[in-house]
Formats: sequence, C-alpha cells, structure tokens
Amino acid sequence: MGARYVWRIDDVTPGMERTRFRAFIDLFRRRGVVPLLGVVPENRDPALCRTPDDPAFWETLRTLGDQGAVEFAQHGYQHLSVTRRGPPSEFTGRPYAEQVEKIGRGQDILRREEIHTDIWMAPYHSFDEATLEALLSRGFRFVSDGAALYPFERRGLVFVPQQVWRPRRLPFGVLTVCLHTNDADDGFYRSVERFLESGARSIRFTEAAAAVARGVTERAANVAFAPAWRLLRWLGRRAAS
Ligand SMILES: [Zn+2]
Repeated sequence: MGARYVWRIDDVTPGMERTRFRAFIDLFRRRGVVPLLGVVPENRDPALCRTPDDPAFWETLRTLGDQGAVEFAQHGYQHLSVTRRGPPSEFTGRPYAEQVEKIGRGQDILRREEIHTDIWMAPYHSFDEATLEALLSRGFRFVSDGAALYPFERRGLVFVPQQVWRPRRLPFGVLTVCLHTNDADDGFYRSVERFLESGARSIRFTEAAAAVARGVTERAANVAFAPAWRLLRWLGRRAAS
C-alpha cells in the first residue's frame, strides 16, 4: 500500500521567507494535507531572518490553526546554537535546569500567543537525555525526530521519526519529510507538488503518533531500519558519484 507521509515545515518565524511558505501552505491545503509547523518561539538566529518581521505573524498562525490547516510543534526556544565544538545544538550537553528553563520560556511565549502544542521539534535535530526529561517535566508528549520506520515510544514520549528532506518513495513505513521553505526553490516546490499529485498518502503528525508501533513486524522493522538506511544512503552516494 506504500508508505504514509507526514510533512513538516521547519523554521517558522516572523522573518521567514513568507511568499514561499504561503505557497507551500496553499499547496498542502489544495491537496488536503495538514503539515506540522515548527514554530521558533523567540527567534535569535540571523540565518532565519530573510524578510522584515511580519507584524501579523502570530495572527496568521492562529488563523491557520483555527482552520485546521496546520498542526504546531515548538521548534526549540531561540534557535541559537550553544555548542563551541562539534555539531550545532541549542540543548545537547547543557545542564537539565537550563534546558527546562529554555523549553519553558519558549512554551510560555507560544501559550501567550495562543499556540498550544505538546509536540517538540529540536533545532538541528539535536537533543540529549536531559532534553527528554525536561520535555516530560513541561508536559510534552510527542517528538518529531529519530531514525526508524514507524513511530515508537521512548521514555514516555512518542517519537514520529523524521527520515527524509525531499519526497522519496518507499514501499512501507511512516516517513516524515522535513521542508525548509526558506531555502526551497521553484524546482523543489514542483517536486513536492508532483509527489502529492501522484497519490502518495499523507497523514497528519498526530494521526501518525496515535499509531505507535506495537506490532511485532513494525518493531522489528524499526530495529532493522537505522543500519539499512545508512547503507541505502551510502549506496545512493556511490551511485551518484
Ligand atoms: Zn530549525
């Protein structure tokens, strides 16, 4: 029956590339797809400031939410990396107390703007055990991340895995496609449009999360997925070179 696809849009901020964002929202709406928006509560990352801040930003989000056109995730706090060496992260390696505080501050801002969510989306896909503890203490229940084929439960949180950054056909599984609309050009937009027109089955994040892998086959597929995926990517790179 083919894979089911969850769509997420990262880096939703008042200074994002709005024209492209709007084009994707309209495309999803036409195709009856409800994407997950990763909203940065208080963006301080200059790389995400592409246009002057939109004064109607929060109002626009609330309207989309009220219309049922989107779902929301909290995408970090300020989207600022605090690591000096290694891969960027806003959270990994920081003390638990600091992580709780940052997550809480972000949550307070979203609540003040009437954006309610218990879904977490880490900037740079980076978090550690302390982050998960902190999320639980602040009432989060879901995470958009992880290398697996089906949603799974870990430490009391439900993970909907995120594996691809462009439409990609797979015979089974639940695949989250991570879109950075700030950087999407016309060719990329059309590839998503064609993929949706091709009849690929899309589901919303919360629908995917509700079907946590409980079956033996799905759990086994998750165990086998990470090494198999690395191999496929390696073969893909070899084929491309
Ligand atoms: Zn991001």
